[in-house]
Amino acid sequence: MRLPPFLPHLKGLRLAEITTTDEGATLHLFAARRTAACPSCGRRSRRVHSRCDRTIADLPWSGVTVRLRLRVRRFLCPVAACPQRIFAEQVPHLVERYGRRTHRLRAALQQIGLALGGATGARLAAALGLPVGRTALLGLIRAAPSPPSEPPRAVGVDEFAWRRGQRFGTIIVDLERRRPIDLLPDRDADQVAAWLRRHPTITTVARDRSGLYADAATRGAPAAQQVVDRWHMLHNLGEALEQFLLHKRALLSDAASALAASSAAVPDSPTPAELPALPWQERAGEAGRQRHAAQLARYEAIHRLRAAGADIAPIARTVGVSRETVYRYLRLPGPPARMRLPARRSALDPCLPYLERRWAEGCRNGKRLWREIREQDFALSYSGVARVVARLRRAERAGQPAVARRATTRPPTPRQVALLFLRRPEKRTPAQQAYIAQLREADEAIASADGLTQEFAAMLRERRGERLDAWLTEAEAGPVPALRRFATGLRGDLDAVRAGLSEPWSNGPTEGYVHKLKLLKRQGYGRADFDLLRQRVLAA
Ligand SMILES: [Zn+2]
Repeated sequence: MRLPPFLPHLKGLRLAEITTTDEGATLHLFAARRTAACPSCGRRSRRVHSRCDRTIADLPWSGVTVRLRLRVRRFLCPVAACPQRIFAEQVPHLVERYGRRTHRLRAALQQIGLALGGATGARLAAALGLPVGRTALLGLIRAAPSPPSEPPRAVGVDEFAWRRGQRFGTIIVDLERRRPIDLLPDRDADQVAAWLRRHPTITTVARDRSGLYADAATRGAPAAQQVVDRWHMLHNLGEALEQFLLHKRALLSDAASALAASSAAVPDSPTPAELPALPWQERAGEAGRQRHAAQLARYEAIHRLRAAGADIAPIARTVGVSRETVYRYLRLPGPPARMRLPARRSALDPCLPYLERRWAEGCRNGKRLWREIREQDFALSYSGVARVVARLRRAERAGQPAVARRATTRPPTPRQVALLFLRRPEKRTPAQQAYIAQLREADEAIASADGLTQEFAAMLRERRGERLDAWLTEAEAGPVPALRRFATGLRGDLDAVRAGLSEPWSNGPTEGYVHKLKLLKRQGYGRADFDLLRQRVLAA
């Protein structure tokens, strides 16, 4: 029987019959042509020596597993001198020689494996009617072809941690095409230098300020321009600031209280929740980040399965969540955003100005204040109002200004203030500006640190490398020891630093991939599975 044209992979074959069992459907096929060409000499033969059957797995039909049972003839080569006396006919557009899966099934499984890894991928494949063992799927991931890459010209080199802070590998990103082109198992200068030597097209190497990659680039690509990437410079500057501000914690706290006390001028002093975490530091919120990574992976898996036509129940089983969760994820308009705790707000807050005013007018009766507030349609419990009244009374007794507003619970941390320094002035909120002004007024060194930071950030943003020397001189003569050390460090790597402040290249994309690597590694790739991790990163 001829096969319909929508099965192009079965071109040249004829269908004898279809049999079905509980395990799926089997298509019994044979080649349409009478002859086959000898792979050795190319001559066609019609002399059949023997027959055998090959079983090949194919993509499912409507979720039903499909196997091909291919009747293969073995031919005698007609050329007497040919070394290939007997040969079996091949169907190269369908399956590899000795292959047990069709090309299209292999490709589908590789896609699933690269996206989800071995265990989850195997579960998804089974749910879609493509049964494959975890080990077989890992083998397919290993065998997946690396996407072709153009010879790179500008690369970013950076480390990634195998285990937090213990062993490191190296990731190399093509900065022009903004995608990873290789992963090396170690953070090793010889390894990186050898890699660079194998890629002589490289003219620019963006790197951090560690001597290791500088050394590797000097030896592996001596003619290439080395660039200290801006991301790392900002990172190091932030670290220096944080170190400096650690010694000024008392001042940071005093400035926050002073602002809270003079709250007439400033609506709110910056609370820790209002200040975003520093982008380059991961210590805080690691648990939240992991939770979010898991949510993202779940979201992706669920949507992928749904798009592939899977039903809710199999999705729930595959991903290992309840059906309600599957529905909830499907309803989301996009990948879940990371949840951050909102700044603490109380139902009391809108009434505080009123309470302060009435207190100033001389009203000391909590019950009465509570009734007045209720008349203004604020549904508040008496106990909340009583707490505020008690606070006002304590302040009055202590001879402090009677401020109903809660004192800022925690002053900003040195790290948060460092971030604030790095932020452009026009992007600071009025409260943040007031806070910085307070700090600058309180301490000359802080004022100098803020000024130097702003100058450096602007130089970096506007790529004004020519201002570097003046900045270094100013920082080295300045009153902030941590910034003096930072400047001295930059001087030690001056050419690459200046290039980093002038050239368009930055390791920004590399950092993005380092983060993606972390997500992949959470799925359990140790050093033993380095090749798998590499495949998945390069295919991503
Ligand atoms: Zn032959």
